[in-house]
Amino acid sequence: MPHVFEQATSGRAKCRGCGQSITRGELRFGERLPNPFAEGEMTLWFHPLCAAYKRPEAVLEALKDAPAAVADAAALERAARGSAAHRRLPRIDGAERAPSGQAKCRNCKQRIEKGAWRVRLVFFEEGRFLPGGSVHIDCREAYFETGDILAPVLHFSPALTDDERGDLSRALGAGPTLAAPPQG
Ligand SMILES: [Zn+2]
Ligand SMILES: [Zn+2]
Repeated sequence: MPHVFEQATSGRAKCRGCGQSITRGELRFGERLPNPFAEGEMTLWFHPLCAAYKRPEAVLEALKDAPAAVADAAALERAARGSAAHRRLPRIDGAERAPSGQAKCRNCKQRIEKGAWRVRLVFFEEGRFLPGGSVHIDCREAYFETGDILAPVLHFSPALTDDERGDLSRALGAGPTLAAPPQG
């Protein structure tokens, strides 16, 4: 079966991209994959924008077939094309201040100091997102091959306060302007 955009028929499903609920009646994206553990296919449900960032190829494929059914098709396509442009961008899972000085940066292999901003990574394997460590904010260009990661980083950091978002935006070189909170 092809990937699908449809209205969520219940409010029970959680988005695979951000872990938050998909509200009943809200547009959701279903990625169809061969089930790695059994016969047949499985469907992974996402908020459309979460999928555009983390599963850009699947979203672009689905948009080809059903752009009319999707209200924000142009914005979704932009986000998906941006994320598909560099192979590591879909790994972005938000940012946080390092809670301890234990973890090492996946790019430079040095410790990430306690309290320093780091970008969390996830790897998509066999239908699941697995935690993949993190990288220093200052290693972003070397690791992602682009410094332009603010939108997905903020999108996957819904728990941050406005102050923290401002701080993070400045650390990412985006100036003092606060980006809008994620829309689902
Ligand atoms: Zn989501
Ligand atoms: Zn580093």
